[in-house]
Amino acid sequence: MAKKQFKSESKRLLDLMVNSIYTHKEIFLRELISNASDAIDKLCYISLTDDRVGMDRDDFRITVKADKEARTITVSDNGVGMTEEELDKNLGVIAKSGSFQFKSEMEDKGDTDIIGQFGVGFYSAFMVASKVTVISRAYGEEGAHMWVSEGSSGYTITPCEKDAVGTDVIMEIKPDAEGEDYSTFLEEYTLHSLIKKYSDYIRWPIVMTVTKSRQVETGEKNADGSAKKDWEDYTEEETINSRVPIWQRPKSEVSDADCFNFYKEHFYDAADPVSVIRIAAEGTVSFKAMLFIPAAAPYDFYTRDYRPGLQLYSSGVMIMEKCEALVPDHFRFVRGVVDSPDLSLNISRELLQHDRQLKVIATNIEKKIAAELKRLMEKEPDKYAAFYKSFGTQLKYSLLNNYGTNSDTLKDLLMFYSGDAEKLISLKSYADNMPESQKSIYYACGDSAEMIRRLPQTETVREKGYDILYLTEDADEFVVKMLGKYGEKPFCSVSSDDLGLESDDEKAETDRAEEENRPLLDFVKETLGDRVAAVRLSHKLVSKPVCLTTQGEITLEMERYFANLRRDNVEPMKAQRVLELNASHPIFEALKNAYDGDRELAGKYAELLYGQALLMAGVPLEDASRFSELVCELMK
Ligand code: ADP
Repeated sequence: MAKKQFKSESKRLLDLMVNSIYTHKEIFLRELISNASDAIDKLCYISLTDDRVGMDRDDFRITVKADKEARTITVSDNGVGMTEEELDKNLGVIAKSGSFQFKSEMEDKGDTDIIGQFGVGFYSAFMVASKVTVISRAYGEEGAHMWVSEGSSGYTITPCEKDAVGTDVIMEIKPDAEGEDYSTFLEEYTLHSLIKKYSDYIRWPIVMTVTKSRQVETGEKNADGSAKKDWEDYTEEETINSRVPIWQRPKSEVSDADCFNFYKEHFYDAADPVSVIRIAAEGTVSFKAMLFIPAAAPYDFYTRDYRPGLQLYSSGVMIMEKCEALVPDHFRFVRGVVDSPDLSLNISRELLQHDRQLKVIATNIEKKIAAELKRLMEKEPDKYAAFYKSFGTQLKYSLLNNYGTNSDTLKDLLMFYSGDAEKLISLKSYADNMPESQKSIYYACGDSAEMIRRLPQTETVREKGYDILYLTEDADEFVVKMLGKYGEKPFCSVSSDDLGLESDDEKAETDRAEEENRPLLDFVKETLGDRVAAVRLSHKLVSKPVCLTTQGEITLEMERYFANLRRDNVEPMKAQRVLELNASHPIFEALKNAYDGDRELAGKYAELLYGQALLMAGVPLEDASRFSELVCELMK
């Protein structure tokens, strides 16, 4: 029979496995047991609706056997098995779950030390075995097939016999080498402790034939007349794992670290989650849940490929891999397991999504997640910051997508950069620190905190001693607009016309000054033409001569945001620019003098001031060479 080749990326991973210097080779057993357990889950699920399976829940089991003479370890299951095509497809290529991520991460880090942090799956067998044989009979088939491979050179599949449905994975353990004691895996004790360590929570029995000792009478008598006894070895089948899924165990028995390990193995994440939420609910619907808030977004999180949802079990039987109805969209980053004995196992997946009991669970879960996030924000700000870095954008977009329907839940989970604190703070923290006199929550938009800090229009607000939220992300300004206010305090852009900081007298004074300078302002407007919608005297400048603001709904940040979207056939939205001049600045005096004495020079000044305003606002100059010519002329 012709040897088949592995797909190229599989071959690379295989080479890595075979030559791995990785110290945690022991995870191979966990991976194979996990596959066996999944296969049993599948057959058990089928058996709920199909009598022909002919198996009771109690019949399912995973067996681990070592043969020291033959140097083999065999992991067997009576799960769903694989057909010839499935053997070819599933074991011939890596395309599943964690494997892809593993691969790309590995390329990033350029080392092999991270093997085992991911679900590397079946291939990990090659870390300890020189040859792997898989004998499998699929449910519904009479015959079986044997898949054999000695590593990256390829594999063969041939028909064979197998009495019962299920899979045997037989590993021929590598010979010991310098510093590599493979023989240890053939020891009963090692296997026993590996099962305990990694697979204890697997809910199907993991059975091993273990050697035990007992005292037996030899038939002879001791000097004192008592029966002489001797130790004798015997073997017995024993279920090694405690079988209670981790989420079913009482909180007191399971540490957070245990939960984190479960998370990493179960959900293929290399990093500890930020937090674990354990729920044991009794009531109209009883359920247990173990939920995790990841620290980092999975590679596909912000793509269409990401599928949210929690794993759903009913009394230990998995009924759905990703049940979307269990988590609201704004918390779609949460991973975890929900187990309820009250859900009907036979319900179809479509109906399940609308199940009333599921809704009860989902509502409870949403509250718990929101509460935990709030707790983190208040009590463990560093962890929350890590979380927010990964998923803050998600929270903001959820708020926008639903037209603010969830804003009550979400607004207190948002963070914005505080100009005063120089770090992200919550809106509540901003509001709590507002002085009595402050009427609005001030914000400024820009590309970066440094750029915003230098914005001329922030000066007046800062002089008042008011903090400013620096909005640097695309969604920020839309979020603030959607919220409108926080508590009773409205949001106010530092670029807006009225900052609410002036007394009526001060306002009247600016109005008067503007009237007085009307001809000059009109001249500047005329010089700049369509480039600006208006030229005004500023209420908000202190040390800078000019700034650029906008009037109307579209701000400069929105203009930039929409320009980036670049929808074809759509006229780009333009912000209406307003040039504000500082009447108490010496430069304004210079402009005025030029206007009175030399109109041509005044025109050049107007252009220069506009250019400066653009630069400070982080907007590219419309005509950079003209600007540079003007600067040169002035310096001459
Ligand atoms: P993963 O478990 O992450 O999907 P693996 O490489 O471990 O990746 O396994 C690939 C696939 O092979 C599994 O998804 C499953 O379909 C199949 N498989 C592996 N082991 C078994 C088994 N013991 N019984 C049935 N199918 C199996």
